[in-house]
Amino acid sequence: MSRRLQIAIVGAGIGGLALSTLLTRAGNLVRVFDQFEAPKPIGSGLMLQQTGLAVLEQLGLRAEMDALGTPIERLWGLTTPAGRPVLDVRYQKWRPDVYGLGVQRGLVFDALLRAALDAGVELVTNAPVVTVRSAPPSFEIEGQGEIKGMDLIVLAHGARSNLTRKDRGVDLPYGALWATLPWPEDGPFDRTALEQRYFKASQMTGVMPSGRLSAESPETLTYFWSIRADQEQSWRNTPLEDWKAEAIKLWPETETLMPHFRSHDDLTFARYRHHTSKAPVEGPGLVRIGDAWHAASPQLGQGANMALLDAWALAQALQTQSDLSAAFGEYLRLRRMHVRLYQWMTWLFTPVYQGDSRILPWLRDWLAAPISKIWPAPPLLAAMVSGAIGAPLKRLGLSSR
Ligand SMILES: Cc1cc2nc3c(=O)[nH]c(=O)nc-3n(C[C@H](O)[C@H](O)[C@H](O)COP(=O)(O)OP(=O)(O)OC[C@H]3O[C@@H](n4cnc5c(N)ncnc54)[C@H](O)[C@@H]3O)c2cc1C
Repeated sequence: MSRRLQIAIVGAGIGGLALSTLLTRAGNLVRVFDQFEAPKPIGSGLMLQQTGLAVLEQLGLRAEMDALGTPIERLWGLTTPAGRPVLDVRYQKWRPDVYGLGVQRGLVFDALLRAALDAGVELVTNAPVVTVRSAPPSFEIEGQGEIKGMDLIVLAHGARSNLTRKDRGVDLPYGALWATLPWPEDGPFDRTALEQRYFKASQMTGVMPSGRLSAESPETLTYFWSIRADQEQSWRNTPLEDWKAEAIKLWPETETLMPHFRSHDDLTFARYRHHTSKAPVEGPGLVRIGDAWHAASPQLGQGANMALLDAWALAQALQTQSDLSAAFGEYLRLRRMHVRLYQWMTWLFTPVYQGDSRILPWLRDWLAAPISKIWPAPPLLAAMVSGAIGAPLKRLGLSSR
């Protein structure tokens, strides 16, 4: 667009910060509003895929991610006690140059925040947005009144916001307890793999290598333990030692990690949500990106990567189109198919690994696992985990290296 736009972004998470930098660098006037008192990331480790890394490269942040993250070559899951492999995805079966990157969320967040502030983005903290209107674009911050006069409002408020439409989507029955721990140097885990152990689909635990926060800080892993949301409180009321015994029974090698857990508060619970907004674009001046548009369980590890793709697509659309309406059309053209595909695939896969069904884990173990070893399943699964189904990078004029 030839004129300079006044843009407000609600949410300084992964998508909101990335978009704010791209739009400011393109000459627009951008303010980002977040409810937090001071900028901080929400959550634990993250797996970056080639999709998200391609956008981080455009932002000038990929070298830092590659230097501090841990390259992951394989997703590897076994059942307990049989030791039957039911998840074995190797990126190299699709393309030899492709990998996932295990990182701490704080690394991505800090890099995105620094880039935004360096670009000249204005970040407004302590700004919980309570209502939003699309025509004319305006919103209200709790206790601070209405903000008007923007050309465009971008909703980047994530999955668990007061602004999320509660009548759309569902809270999934399961979530997980997460913790970032030091990598045990002489420990039993594979530094090149995200490893999981399952009992049916009702118990699942995993370890993901998650790199360092800085060159000086220690190498880490992210530990997770799947748990039903309605059992979180009873888990808290049960002695921690009882849970540790259960966790060690599911994956004996994790015994080495257990001394890090001294209280229940050393693990953070995250409940998963699945929703796809029917109206990513609303009226003449409102658009959604990231989890505000499409949230899903992190089973396929795509959410942050998709938020970055959305940010890139919207920034490109605003730059290349002549008005907002054309830019919105272009944004949807660039992203809608990929979003639909991954929302659908994540919906399909999640209960196979986290759920109470008896049939799905049985089918997984005895049917899907053997089939997944037969060509063309190995390269297809690797492409799926990389976020590449639907060729999103090609659509966006980006390339993975
Ligand atoms: C446990 C867990 C593990 C995950 N692992 C992965 C992974 O390995 N790979 C991957 O790609 N994705 C993963 N995800 C998903 C990923 O974290 C999200 O998809 C991603 O963070 C979405 O980015 P976003 O910018 O849309 O929202 P967020 O990063 O959630 O940011 C939203 C921001 O909006 C702010 N906000 C909310 N409401 C308001 C309001 N009313 N007013 C002002 N500010 C507001 C919040 O404070 C927050 O800062 C995981 C998610 C979870 C929970």
